[in-house]
Amino acid sequence: MIALNQQRLTEIREHGEQDYPFECCGLLIGSFEKDGRKSVLETYPISNAREEEAKRNRFLIQPDELLRGERYAVKKKLDVIGFYHSHPDERAVPSKYDLDHAWPTYSYIVVAVEKGEAVDLRSWEMEPDRSRFNQEEFCAVSVSEARP
Ligand SMILES: [Zn+2]
Repeated sequence: MIALNQQRLTEIREHGEQDYPFECCGLLIGSFEKDGRKSVLETYPISNAREEEAKRNRFLIQPDELLRGERYAVKKKLDVIGFYHSHPDERAVPSKYDLDHAWPTYSYIVVAVEKGEAVDLRSWEMEPDRSRFNQEEFCAVSVSEARP
């Protein structure tokens, strides 16, 4: 289960629309909760590091960009809990490439952008044996945000 509010969802959708027809990507920053949920408290947009041609169908985050995002998260006492990217004119379902380049535990949000408009957004988590992605449920309010 992944918790993120309307504002975070809007940020991811808008980033996908902005970078259309290319893929956008970014980090999900927040915390791993004790109850097993993940809470997204911030999105961290990063550019797509691939060449023009490949930007259409495969996202890649450079190690230094990931490191920068991780440092930012640590400074705020948060963690990188996952990644998001867009699928221009494709379904919000991870590709084989996405599966091959994913790690367990993290959440992968995919936003489908059709003709420049974000139409679907889903979160995925990899099976521990790396065989496939399972869709992850959303909930609107995170545990951390509910804390006084
Ligand atoms: Zn993808």
